This record gives sequence, C-alpha cells and structure tokens, in this order.
Amino acid sequence: MLTEAKICYIIKACFPRLKKEVLMSYNFATHVFGFDKMEETLPPNVFRKFKKTVDEKKSLDPDAADAIANEIKKWAESMGVTHFTHWFLPLTGLTAGKQNTFIDRDEKGKVISKFSGRELIKGEPDASSFPHGGMRSTFEARGYTAWDPTSPVFIKESKKGCILYIPTVFFGYNGKVLDKKTPLLRSLKLINQISLKILKKFNQRVRWVKNMVGPEQEFFLVNETDVNQRSDLRTLGRILFAARPPKGQQMGDHYFGAIPGKVLRFLEDVEEEAAKLGIPVKTRHNEVAPNQFEMAPIYEEANIGADHNQILMDLLLDTARKHDMVCLLHEKPFHYFNGSGKHLNWSLMDSNHRNLLTPGNSKSTRFVFLSFLTGFLMGINRHNDLIQSVLASPGNELRLGGHEAPPSIISIYLGEELQTILQNLEGFIAGKIKKAPLIQFEEFVPSILHEMSDRNRTSPVAFTGNKFEFRMPGSSQSLAFPIAVINLAVTEGLNVVYQHIASLEDEKKIIETLNQLVHDNSAIVYEGDNYDREWKEEAEKRGLFIPVSLPHTIDRLKHKKNVTLFEKYNILKKDEIEARADIKIEMYVKTVEMELRVARYLLRAYIIPAALKNQKMLLDAVNGFPQKILEQNPTILDQQLEFIKKFTQKINRAMEMLSILDEDNEKLKQGNDREQAALCSATIRPHIIETAAVVEKIEERVDHGFWKMPRAADILFR
Ligand code: ADP
Ligand code: MG
Repeated sequence: MLTEAKICYIIKACFPRLKKEVLMSYNFATHVFGFDKMEETLPPNVFRKFKKTVDEKKSLDPDAADAIANEIKKWAESMGVTHFTHWFLPLTGLTAGKQNTFIDRDEKGKVISKFSGRELIKGEPDASSFPHGGMRSTFEARGYTAWDPTSPVFIKESKKGCILYIPTVFFGYNGKVLDKKTPLLRSLKLINQISLKILKKFNQRVRWVKNMVGPEQEFFLVNETDVNQRSDLRTLGRILFAARPPKGQQMGDHYFGAIPGKVLRFLEDVEEEAAKLGIPVKTRHNEVAPNQFEMAPIYEEANIGADHNQILMDLLLDTARKHDMVCLLHEKPFHYFNGSGKHLNWSLMDSNHRNLLTPGNSKSTRFVFLSFLTGFLMGINRHNDLIQSVLASPGNELRLGGHEAPPSIISIYLGEELQTILQNLEGFIAGKIKKAPLIQFEEFVPSILHEMSDRNRTSPVAFTGNKFEFRMPGSSQSLAFPIAVINLAVTEGLNVVYQHIASLEDEKKIIETLNQLVHDNSAIVYEGDNYDREWKEEAEKRGLFIPVSLPHTIDRLKHKKNVTLFEKYNILKKDEIEARADIKIEMYVKTVEMELRVARYLLRAYIIPAALKNQKMLLDAVNGFPQKILEQNPTILDQQLEFIKKFTQKINRAMEMLSILDEDNEKLKQGNDREQAALCSATIRPHIIETAAVVEKIEERVDHGFWKMPRAADILFR
C-alpha cells in the first residue's frame, strides 16, 4: 500500500528539488477514501478490525462496517458526491454498476440524505442481462453485489456532481459467483495461508503475505475523425482491411522515441486523473509500433492493482475522447504491427515488506526463496494449460505468436543467474554463490548492479530480477481472473512443496527434496528462442500444452484436472467454471460474427464500389484513346490493358471472397456454440485474412479520390 509518506518519497526521488509544500499539494489519491483517511477518521478499534480484514483477510463485523460507511458518507458529501454505485467486474470483462443517489425518505416521508452500512455492504442489481453461462434461470434473475473492503472506494467527477464508486463482488441469487473479483479475493487468501506455513517452517515471523502486481498497459491512439470514417475501427477497435503503410516499425524509431505533443498532453491528463484516484502511474513511453504507447503504475497489492488497471483502462478510453482521439485497447489493431499486451509483473511480499522472490542474506531467507521458486515452477508447470485457457481471447488469438508478442505455448525463462543457483543448491544455501557483479561502463559513469535477470523478450514468463513477468495477457483483458488462476496454480505448487518439506529437519534433505522437485518440473523451463520452430516439437515432447485452436484452448478450462484444482481450493465450483468457458466461447463467436458483418459491409459499400469506379476510370482512358494513334501503333495499349486485366482479376477475387463470406454467414447461423466457434476459428477468421490480402492489393491500386476510408498510412500520426 502506498502511504502519503511513500508517495512523497517517490516524488522526491524523481524531483529532488521540489519543496515539501509542493509535494503535499500534489493531488495524489484525493478522490480515494484510502487507508490513510480511514486511519485518521475511524475509531482506533474499528480501524484495527478493518486492517485485519485487509491484511489477514479476516471478516469484518457489521458494526465496524456501519462505522466505516458513516465516515465514507461524510467524506463523500464533503466531496460533493450525489450518487453512489456498486462497481463490479461481471464476466463480460468490462466494469459495471447501477447508480443511486443518497436521497431516501424518513419514517415521516420526508426526503433526506442517507447512506447506511447496509447500502455500502449490499446491493441488489438485476443480474439477468449479465452473462452467466446458463447458471441462472430467469426467475432467479436477481443478483447481489457485496462490498470488497480491501479495495478503497473512490470518486469520479461528472459535470453536475460526483459519483462514489464502491468496489464489490457479484453473486447470483443462488450464490453462484458471477464476477471476476471473487476468485481473485479467494486466491489471495489461499496464497497468504500457504506462504505463512512455508515462512514459519523456516522461522520467519510474519503476519501476512500479499501478492503484488504491476501491469504494464499498452494501447494505440488514433484520431477520432479517422475512427468515425471506418466501421472496422469504430465497431471492432481494429482495422480489418488496409494496405500496409510504407513506413511502419521497421526503423525502430518509435520505441522510446519523443512522445508527440498531442499524445503527451493526453498522457498528462490521464496521469492527473489517475493520481486523484490513487493510481501510482510511474512510467509512460512510446511502444514499438507507430501510435503505440505504454503506461505502467508502481506495483500494488493484486486486488487493488487489478482494480486500478480496470479504472486506468476506462480513463484511457474516456480521456482520449476528450482529446479528439480514440484509445484502442484491442490486442491487434493493425495486423502488420506489434499487438498490445499487458505484461503482468507478479511477486509476493511479506508483512516485513520483504519480497519473497529475492534470496536475502540469511540461510533461512535463501531457503524461503528456493521453496517459493520451486512452488512457482511446479504450479506453472502443472497448470500451464489453465493459464493459456484463461488468457485465450479473440484479440489474443490474433496477437500471440505474432511480431513481438510471446507465442502461446507457456514456458518460463529463468536467466543465467537463477540457472547457476539451481545447478548448485547446496552452494547457494551456504551463501557461496556470488552476488551479481557491479558493472562500470565508463570511468565517469557510476557503477550499476547487473540485474539478476535477462531480457529474453520471446519468453511468455520471465524472471526479471525479483518478480515474474507474464507477457501473454492481452491489452484489453481484465486481470482479476488471470491473477486468480496464477495464484491458484502457485498455491498448488507451494502446497506440494510444503507437504514434502514440512516434516524434514535436516537441511541436506530439504535441499535434496527441493532439487528433486525442481528437476521434476523442469519441463516448463526454457531458455532458448521461443520462436524457434523446433521449440514446438520439443514442448510437445515435454508434455506442455500445445494450443490447437482458440476454442480448444478455452475448453481446457473445463478439463478434469483443472476443475479438480478449482474445487480443491474452493475457488469456483464445476458449474461456475463451465459457465466461464461457455461465456468465453459465446463471446468469441459474437466477436467473429461482428467481424464478418463488418467485413462484408466494407466490401459491399466501400471496397468493391471504389474498385469499380477505378476500373471505369481506367477503361474510360483506354476507350477514349485516339483511334488514329492506335491504328499506327496497334500494341500501344497492351500494357494498360494488361494492368486493367490484372486489376479486374483482383476485383473478381474480392467478389468471390464476398460470396464466401456470405456463405460463412449462413453457416454461422447453424449449429451450437462449440460448432460455431470451431467454424470461426478454422474457417471464418482465415477467410477474413485471405480477403484482407486481396483488399490490400486493390487499395494500393485505387485512385485516392475513390477511396472513401482513411488509409492506415493516414491514420498513423505523421
Ligand atoms: P519493463 O522494462 O519490463 O517494460 P516497466 O518499468 O514498464 O518495465 O514496468 C515494470 C512493472 O513491474 C512496473 O509496474 C513495476 O512497478 C512492476 N514491479 C516492479 N517490481 C515489482 C515487484 N516486486 N512485484 C510486482 N511488480 C513489480
Ligand atoms: Mg514496460
């Protein structure tokens, strides 16, 4: 958690000359009823109870909740709040909430302003329009939202007032989990419990262990006017058909380059709003592709980090509009450029603020480090398929395995230094492995520590110094469920490790055991180039999950092994998992269905008409050619006619593709969801790609005046 003192420290480190008063006036978390405000306003015993809930995941009694609601209300009113909303993460992957005012009637019927503990804690939205994967019949359409006290309430400003957002979990009437936050909260409890056991085994006195995450959010920015003129960008958030711009990312001049002024002003506005909402955005830079950028906050506890990422995505979308731009969170807006991801940096921190993924200076801490590393490797090794299935999405299907993105087969990159440690566990525990050396580049440049990591950018999961970086999450994805699944897999790994070492006293035996476990799970470790063609064969031999198609990967969620895991740790029940897979499949089909609709529309209403106009122009030129010259030079028009012939062939091909897509559209109306998903993945998306190749050739040949859509080269900032 970031206290004001810490924020000041960070700002001070960045701007050493800033005076204290300036720091204090920095508008950080002014719109959040955070832990510092709670400490200031709540009676100490209530605050203590609340802290226990947050840190140790203990339940909060109703009196304490009432006292907190009261303070929240006072604060909200002082901020000019008129409405409140239970904010939740339904299975759509977006955020949702119904807004209510504070007004109520007293017993005499007089209108008053009231906000009770009950209203803070519980909401009853109609759940019938949220995806539930068949888990709820319509007569049970009521759902419940329940306050998540571990994520602070926050305020968003609107034109005429302010709205109080209360982070909540979302259940169906029958108690079925209908959101992405509940599994995350449950997983945080699990990770805390098993981590404490391991720490105790090695005599580490800690009160809690928290999962920390730092998501790096990538996105594209384009002008709103261009988006409005292209129905693919407007409806799908990506370009379906466009000629490749002559200048792309081949010069490598965009990455970390100067941020265009217009974008910088946008980023500053996002940062300002993010700061008010307590999101500690630290990094901003140009990404590899033209018009692609990244923002990354400082890491936070997973639940807050995941919420903050959702809020940041909303902010990016809203703020872009205010700057006459559109923020594209799609994983692959331009098929010839890098896609956008959301690298998820993952680690564990204990109540002494120690990162459990650093070896530390004592034998005990080195044992702790090794146990956690082993548990992590085991968890991901056993459940690499599950992680793939959770991250499988319509956008990621187009991204993973493309340009810079990692391939979808999951492996972990450890780097030279961890490999050295794993080859000599005994030496490592005895403290005999040398620390990373200091490197000096130039006499006048201070020495810097060579990090315990490497930068194998092709690896889907990489150890980067004191954390693991997951590179598969897509830019538009909600992180709550993926983090829950990572935590679940790691909990399983840590549990197995603990079972093996709990009764061992002899250090040598512990080392031997850990060594064996690392060895047994080394299939997941791969240090080579993940794009190497042989890697796929090798991964298959190692028993790693090889994706065949997106629907196949999604359905891995329902695999018996994975269902058992969810049920063993009470994260979700079988029907809740099946519902998630069904919803993912349904959303995939709907996405491709929309792509198909837009593709056919663009062909009919823009591309083919433009091509025919162009053809007519060419034919007119030939027809109008002076007869006299032609008689003297009978072959003079041969090249032009050849050009027209080839162009006509392309038009014919586009028309053929249109008929194929029309047929696909008919086929898609039949069959069940699974059959439709298979059709989308195996047939429809490949057909759209095939069409795109034809359209690209047509666009390159059509006169500018006839081409009514902005071209990709125009859309990119010049
Ligand atoms: P990169 O060089 O990989 O692009 P960035 O600076 O863009 O790195 O982002 C790194 C992210 O990792 C930041 O959000 C940062 O706060 C986060 N991070 C750093 N240390 C940890 C940690 N121990 N646990 C989780 N996240 C961390
Ligand atoms: Mg980064």
